[in-house]
Amino acid sequence: SAIPSIVLNDGNVIPQLGFGVFQVPDDDAYPVVTAALEAGYRSIDTAAIYGNEEGTGRAIREFGLPRDEIYVTTKLWNSEQGYDSTLRAFDASMARLGLDYLDLYLIHWPVAAADRYVDTFRAFQSLKSQGRIKSIGVSNFTEAHLQQLIGEIGETPVVNQIELHPRLAQRELRDFHASHAIATEAWSPLGQGTLLDDQTITSVAAEVGRTPAQVIIRWHLQLGNIVIPKSVTPSRIAENLDVFGFELTDDQMAAITALDTGSRIGPDPDTMTAGL
Ligand code: NAD
Repeated sequence: SAIPSIVLNDGNVIPQLGFGVFQVPDDDAYPVVTAALEAGYRSIDTAAIYGNEEGTGRAIREFGLPRDEIYVTTKLWNSEQGYDSTLRAFDASMARLGLDYLDLYLIHWPVAAADRYVDTFRAFQSLKSQGRIKSIGVSNFTEAHLQQLIGEIGETPVVNQIELHPRLAQRELRDFHASHAIATEAWSPLGQGTLLDDQTITSVAAEVGRTPAQVIIRWHLQLGNIVIPKSVTPSRIAENLDVFGFELTDDQMAAITALDTGSRIGPDPDTMTAGL
């Protein structure tokens, strides 16, 4: 079944459901990404810090589809922020991926203490104007970081990729994104698996005759999120894509959203300075 697309504020389109490869070792990335492409995923989310751009890129190239039929995202690591260092880091990522252009480049974390994300984004703009990147965005930015970036640059990132799952529904940041035409992309969309035995999730799953993972992915899709679940198990990789044949009711959506406690699994964007 066809994966819906989200139109970004620069006119490019991204598949709403993609595949993430966080914590997949480089040697495993080739078979895992190949399995995802075989299952029908057409969007892959990696990052320089994941250490698997080589295996990921090789799987994408050897799968043999035309380049423009696979959407590829990678991310600039914290230690490389700054104008010139970003240009170098981008070249290094592209050499590892073995691709001649990138669909989406993200600033992985704001690292506001270093105060370099504006210069970093200016380097992204330069790479985009050279045709080496189709779209440029950010990850783990708060509203304050976005306000500063937009204020200084006068351009709005196409996406903000943030921790988002039923226990961290991010209502305010999603509303801010919507009012600025920034697409919301959800990382750890399944709460890294910790939500799959939640009673609300399992009872909705029983109601709709689907698995807990499918119910959570469906919740994201119906909120309008771009979503990039990860699995290394081929049956689960396929299961997580088989989410277009059912819908959650408003009541089921509300019951899942009510799980929001505002609690994070990952780092706080205001204090995350790894790599500095
Ligand atoms: P996730 O929420 O996608 O959970 C993945 C885990 O859930 C798997 O390892 C597995 O244990 C379990 N799982 C997945 N499908 C399942 C199924 N059908 N049945 C049972 N269990 C299942 O967690 P994630 O990998 O942290 O997040 C997804 C992607 O988001 C990452 O791979 C990465 O691409 C991205 N990400 C980005 C950032 C960032 O800072 N920008 C941070 C973390 C993750």
